[in-house]
Amino acid sequence: MEPITEEQRIAAEEQQAAIEQARKDPLHPYGNPCAVCGSEHDEENWGVLGWIGILPLSLCADCSQGMVSMVLDHMPVEELEEAVMIRKAAEAAEMAEIAEVSKPE
Ligand SMILES: [Zn+2]
Repeated sequence: MEPITEEQRIAAEEQQAAIEQARKDPLHPYGNPCAVCGSEHDEENWGVLGWIGILPLSLCADCSQGMVSMVLDHMPVEELEEAVMIRKAAEAAEMAEIAEVSKPE
């Protein structure tokens, strides 16, 4: 195994601190069992962590993939195309914001 750099060591410490902080927060989805099948959180193979409004949602990889497939199977092609365009516009706006923030003064 290669030795890690100081930056990697600091990043790992920060990630661990964020995980510890998330575990203490009852409204954070990290570490919760899958909301569909109830399987225990698996750090190495998990699907989705997020919020619907303020409600934390945690889904295992199988259930999140199954939900995506169900949604895609039931969406008309026109809605899928519109969703892709909205997503692309949001990503472009995010990239423009990042470029603006990192622009040297
Ligand atoms: Zn599941």
